[in-house]
Amino acid sequence: MKLFAIFGDPVSHSISPLMHNTAIKNLFLDACYTRYLLKNGDILREKFLTLKLSGVNVTVPHKEAAFRACDEIRGVASKIKAVNTIIKENDRLIGYNTDAPGFYEAIKEFKDAKRVLILGAGGTAKAISIYLKEKNHSVNILNRSQKRLSFFEENGFISYSWDNFKISSYDLVINTTSAGLSDQSLPVDEALLDKLFVSAKYAVDVIYNKNTPFLQKASDFGLKYKDGKDMLLYQGVIAFEYFFNHKFSQKTILKEMKKAF
Ligand code: NDP
Repeated sequence: MKLFAIFGDPVSHSISPLMHNTAIKNLFLDACYTRYLLKNGDILREKFLTLKLSGVNVTVPHKEAAFRACDEIRGVASKIKAVNTIIKENDRLIGYNTDAPGFYEAIKEFKDAKRVLILGAGGTAKAISIYLKEKNHSVNILNRSQKRLSFFEENGFISYSWDNFKISSYDLVINTTSAGLSDQSLPVDEALLDKLFVSAKYAVDVIYNKNTPFLQKASDFGLKYKDGKDMLLYQGVIAFEYFFNHKFSQKTILKEMKKAF
């Protein structure tokens, strides 16, 4: 039996085990997916090997540690410098980032959005920005503080902190901050968000299963919008493809994994 897991801290809230086990069961695979509370990212590789895992997903705060733990990085993960999916191939650990293509798949109905503003500058913002840029979208970053902007500047993005933001017109505004996750706050000043939403067509919040104040405002302005649930689903679908070596199409995996919701 193949064993898979999600590594994170915290990890008890994750619905990845339910998503993957639902697909595993419905596709009659000899496998199981569990969760592992990993406190120390430095021992990620050792844990992967001693637990005899075939693959893992990695969540907060270990995606950078996962990047360092792999023997080889494939695809867009090498630019993002963060890994959320690892598989074992001939005793070597191969790292991928499925958050980025998962996000892109989730917003396919918004793909005519050329000018994009990403709020926040953490791990999720890095993954999304790099991928959207590769797909020829024009991406700007706006973060509360200056400290995390160097990654974006080095990668050629126009990036602002709240102190020096010069407003322009964007088709799509994406919230990647945790504002609104466990409170009722907005990711930027309300008057500024009103101005952004007047000219925007679409809004996405990566927080899932919650009508955040950001999404509520998008709705008030008549924008098309969505939360992070589909991103979560698609990153899982793409990871599952890697876990089972592309034995199943995305369409088949999606159909089965969706049942977990
Ligand atoms: P990070 O901790 O790496 O980054 C958080 C960013 O948000 C930072 O730029 C921080 O600014 C900013 N921020 C935090 N709080 C506030 C606030 N109250 N107001 C304004 N800015 C704020 O987080 P991640 O990128 O890992 O995750 C961000 C969110 O994405 C989480 O809510 C997480 O649940 C969600 N997520 C969803 C996924 C999905 O599949 N749907 C996948 C992964 C993440 P500063 O630099 O100034 O501190």
